[in-house]
Formats: sequence, structure tokens, C-alpha cells
Amino acid sequence: MKTTSLRDFHADDSPCGHRHTPSSMPLEEGCPGRSYWLASCTCGWLLRSTAKGYADDRRRHHRDEHKKEARATSPSRQNPMPTPSYEKQLSNELVTVTDRIAQTYGEDFRPGGCALYTGDGQRTPGIFQATYYDEKGVAQAEFVRVDGTPVSAPLSDFAKLPPSASPSTSSRTPSAARWRAVKSKPVSAIR
Ligand SMILES: [Zn+2]
Ligand SMILES: [Zn+2]
Repeated sequence: MKTTSLRDFHADDSPCGHRHTPSSMPLEEGCPGRSYWLASCTCGWLLRSTAKGYADDRRRHHRDEHKKEARATSPSRQNPMPTPSYEKQLSNELVTVTDRIAQTYGEDFRPGGCALYTGDGQRTPGIFQATYYDEKGVAQAEFVRVDGTPVSAPLSDFAKLPPSASPSTSSRTPSAARWRAVKSKPVSAIR
């Protein structure tokens, strides 16, 4: 299952994750304001936009494309082609390697995950295309920076993005929580 995410960044490419008013005014000290948004998908798709609405719209659209794909290729409609066993084995091994790397370095350190490339002394966001161990056993990554330039570097040249509110979990309902709090009061306390 492919999952998409939307993250906001400051003009210096540092991830934001600060709170803002609905009109995007920073609510926290130390936030210079958001400069652009990165929409990404675990398939390796990446889009940069200075407009949040546009980035989120493209993210939804991209997510829906995967849903359509999944429906079109669902096993109930189509007989799966038999996979040659060596290919199956190879892909199983690749999955094991990416899982192992993700367990060691963090869940974002896998194909489709977002991170910051720090190997050139800067912190440039982008997305992993592939992760693997080289012949010396060093974890390496193929990475595409937000400006579209690819880079191959050891995983030690990458830094994690701080967690940011995912669009699907940002809808909190404080009124419902308050209502529950009122309802759970013992009857004798209300009188
Ligand atoms: Zn900020
Ligand atoms: Zn995708």
C-alpha cells in the first residue's frame, strides 16, 4: 500500500512543523514562516509547491491514482502471472534489505521516505529512491533532492525529518472531548 504525505519547509530548507494560524501566520517563536510544501509518496513521487492547497490537491490526486491502479490489478479481476521463483526470491531479498535498513536508521530511511541530505554541508530535503548495502556492508542510498538532482551517498549523510502532523490526523475535535468530559461528571455534582 502506497502512502502519501505533505510536509512544510522554511525558506532555508529546514522542515517547519510549527503551528500556524489558518492564514499561515507563524504561531510559534523561531518560525520564520513557511516557504514551500513537499508532497511525497512511498512510490518515490515528489512535488514541491509554494502553495499548500495545490500541493495537497496533487497529493490527493496522486493517492487516488494508486487506488485506481490497485482496483484495476486486484486479483479478483485478473489472474496473476506466475512469477519466476528466482525473481520472487530476488525481490524478497530486496524487501529484507530495505526493511533491515529502515529498522536500523528509521522508518523514513526506505524508498519513498523523506529525509534531509547533509553530505554537502547543507540540509536539502528530498526522497529516497533506493537503499541497499554495498559490498563493504555500508548502507547506501539513491536519493533525489527537491530540486530534482539525484545523489548517491552513504546513509550517514542523511538526517531524519522531525515528525510533522500528517494531513489525515490533523482533524481534532476539541468540542467532542469537552462534551465527553461534561457527560462523564457524576450526576450528584451537577444537581
Ligand atoms: Zn516553522
Ligand atoms: Zn505514489
